[in-house]
Amino acid sequence: MFIVDAHLDLSMNALEWNRDLTQPIAAINEREAGLTDKPDRGKGVVSLPTLRKGNIGLVVATQIARFVAPDNHLPGWHSPEQAWAQTQGQVAWYKAMEDIGEMVQINNLETLERHLQLWNDGSSNEHKPIGYVLSLEGADSLVTVAHLERAYNYGLRAVGPAHYGPGRYAQGTDATGYMGPKGHELLKEMERLNVILDATHLCDDSFWEALDHFNGHVWASHNNCRALVNHNRQYSDEQIKVLIERGAVIGAALDAWMMVPGWGRGVSTPIGMGCNLEVMIDHIDHICQIAGNTLHVGIGSDLDGAFGREQCPYDLETIADLQKVTGLLAKRGYNQADIENMMHGNWLRFLRKAWK
Ligand SMILES: [Zn+2]
Repeated sequence: MFIVDAHLDLSMNALEWNRDLTQPIAAINEREAGLTDKPDRGKGVVSLPTLRKGNIGLVVATQIARFVAPDNHLPGWHSPEQAWAQTQGQVAWYKAMEDIGEMVQINNLETLERHLQLWNDGSSNEHKPIGYVLSLEGADSLVTVAHLERAYNYGLRAVGPAHYGPGRYAQGTDATGYMGPKGHELLKEMERLNVILDATHLCDDSFWEALDHFNGHVWASHNNCRALVNHNRQYSDEQIKVLIERGAVIGAALDAWMMVPGWGRGVSTPIGMGCNLEVMIDHIDHICQIAGNTLHVGIGSDLDGAFGREQCPYDLETIADLQKVTGLLAKRGYNQADIENMMHGNWLRFLRKAWK
């Protein structure tokens, strides 16, 4: 089945992890043997050939670069200008992938429909480009609100105003507080340019404020349920309800700590914690039960988001194993139309509506 994955950090992996994503995942992992600078060295699950193998032909791919003030101890850049430059390197990588036919940017209805035709023409995927919708995870790198239009012009189509911690336009995961005037200005400009609001990572205060002030299209690219794993990074049932009312699609994420309660980073193991793909279905099912239908959930795997096999479902060896999700949904009683909605249909319907 054709799969859309609404959250991957491909360019971050290429430039900060030094991964050549045109290679098979086994080759990338082999090359990292002996490296210890990141917890997921040698344990990656995502590369472009692996996406093709899994029939994952369309992804939402990020630019990501945080600004940190002197009192912020998260990793990040010391000025917005440095963060902007980092994201420009990331764009350059995506464009380089386009130049060699590995990827293709999807930024309007015409490019979307052409891409879907190509991927559904019955021929082998082996040489087809991976389509990507460009997204910005955390808006710190927009030096000014006017930079959004510059980004729109090179293809940016979705923005999550915050990531982890305090941000320049909104407050993110583990932080608290409101967006402030600059955040409101950003939302206005996003609305004017028809940029999708990614509500993922907004802290509760900023989340409610953003939804109150933003009148455009809203999705949540990678977010699980607080009812199953109680953490501010996850959505409460109340937040899920309001997203459903707004026509949002919520992407189920495969980061183990967001899937099973009590995960200890660097301590717990997927097998030890019973973290498998069935747990992902629990989160998906929770959203479907609130919605009363299967129209508001999809996949936003985050499978290259600074973790790999040490922190994802034990029955997933590479991202191509997302194909297993179809069978698990069927086992839970979902019919073929439901499964198609969740594997790709909901994201496609969302984009067609947003871009019409
Ligand atoms: Zn994230």
